[in-house]
Amino acid sequence: MVEGRCYVCNQTFTAKDSGTVVDILAEHIMGEHHGWAWGDAMQTKNTFDKCPVCGTTLGKIVAKCPNCGADLIEQYVRKVAAGYVH
Ligand SMILES: [Zn+2]
Ligand SMILES: [Zn+2]
Repeated sequence: MVEGRCYVCNQTFTAKDSGTVVDILAEHIMGEHHGWAWGDAMQTKNTFDKCPVCGTTLGKIVAKCPNCGADLIEQYVRKVAAGYVH
């Protein structure tokens, strides 16, 4: 079993593998802490240069990829959450 921790409220979640834990954490954070995640993901230092899903160069702060429609708040949350899985 793999354990992951919510980096906002410190609640822990367990699942059979790290990919599943990241899925659970992302769903939890997007549901429980969406405003927090939004504010963090929209900081210049945290925005993506390229869409992590399709690779399109983004160039400015956007919440959704203009090419593939990926939710970049969720992508940011997944990236950070992956660092809290062990
Ligand atoms: Zn939480
Ligand atoms: Zn994209």
